[in-house]
Amino acid sequence: MVLRTEQPHLPGAEWRAPEDPHSLFAMAIGAIHRGCDHIAAPAYVKAILSESKNELIVHFPVRLDTGQYRLFRGYRIQHNNILGPYKGGMRYHPDVSLDDVKALAAWMTVKCALARLPFGGAKGGVAVDPATLSPEELMRLTRRFTSALGDNIGPEFDIPAPDAGTNAQIMDWMMDTYLNTHQSGNRLGLMHVVTGKSLACGGSEGREKATGQGLCYVLLELLPEFRLKPEGLRFSLLGFGKVGAHAAAALAGHGAKLIAVMDSSGALAAPTGLPVEALRRHASRTGGIAGFSAPGVSAVGREEFYRTAVDVFIPAALERMVDTEVAAWLDCRIVAEGGNGPVTTEALDLLQRRGIAVLPAILCNAGGVIVSYLEWVQNKAGVHWELARVDRELRKTIVLAARRVRLAAHQYETDLVTAAYCVAVDHLTRSYQQRGIFP
Ligand code: GLU
Repeated sequence: MVLRTEQPHLPGAEWRAPEDPHSLFAMAIGAIHRGCDHIAAPAYVKAILSESKNELIVHFPVRLDTGQYRLFRGYRIQHNNILGPYKGGMRYHPDVSLDDVKALAAWMTVKCALARLPFGGAKGGVAVDPATLSPEELMRLTRRFTSALGDNIGPEFDIPAPDAGTNAQIMDWMMDTYLNTHQSGNRLGLMHVVTGKSLACGGSEGREKATGQGLCYVLLELLPEFRLKPEGLRFSLLGFGKVGAHAAAALAGHGAKLIAVMDSSGALAAPTGLPVEALRRHASRTGGIAGFSAPGVSAVGREEFYRTAVDVFIPAALERMVDTEVAAWLDCRIVAEGGNGPVTTEALDLLQRRGIAVLPAILCNAGGVIVSYLEWVQNKAGVHWELARVDRELRKTIVLAARRVRLAAHQYETDLVTAAYCVAVDHLTRSYQQRGIFP
């Protein structure tokens, strides 16, 4: 797998360094560059991966329930498609910006490459707080956004999926809008234009829990490296949403103990472990973990949460929540990145200096897009697999990715984060070398 061949007839291309060196895009590209440099990838590959291929911004009006109209801004960034159709989530969040979506799209490219999925990387979203809209407004927004994207998405071209602030209902509306606005859509049954749909609309078993389940499989595979085992493993969680709650349930199923958890509503700790199922019921009823009570569970402050001694800390919320201040507080052996880009570059350096291993997001949270791929395959074949089969395929795919990362860390004598990027960039490079650059 070691790749050390420069191609003199394909010299490096020019690329612009991100304008803001502290931006999320600069962070994502910096990580990809470290992978490129470590395996001495050709300069033209490094240059290509430094920019997104297509960047689309749309503005569209939506009628609110009051009868007034509001103009929204939506994005779809297609970073790379050398391995297959663009693939990635759609985020609804007030902070959605061009720079962040570019970063998230770039991470999808390397995530799909690492898992050996036949997909490229994309991401999109709308700058909106979905909690401020009624279900009807959310539906009109989703339909109008999808129609504004037009032919820039498609089942063999660019396939959206859920991300922060979106869910199966929104994916169902996206699919329905695409089918109704494309002549061939309904006729050809192009429901694989979107993944993460509900079961009633062609979604896959196991997609909802896929990211958390995948994270659990990665840990089961890599824990022995650290002489740890799942039974009695002590872990803490930042974020108790789509990723965190399912990761907690999956890990608890293997005997691990959730010692502390924090979300935007507050933080809780329990020295002997929180009852995960009861906490999930509480959070889905109230919208957060705050106010949950059970024997031995107490509310804690932010710093106390981070300082809680655990084996594994799982940041499963938004980007860059672990900065150097938090990295200095953490008392754990492993940080397993559940969300995308949760640890800043500086915090990553500090954690590594402190001897804390980081398992990268492009490996740990690949479960979501892996089951998206399985949904896409099922839709194309017109079949529906049972949960056991989906879980088996997910496990096989993500465990192989974890083994590739472990092997690369030994081969390249580097940490698991750099190793993951090495594996991904190596795979992308091979594809470029085989195909060449058009014309
Ligand atoms: N939004 C998820 C991610 O960041 C899933 C993407 C997908 O399923 O296409 O990986």
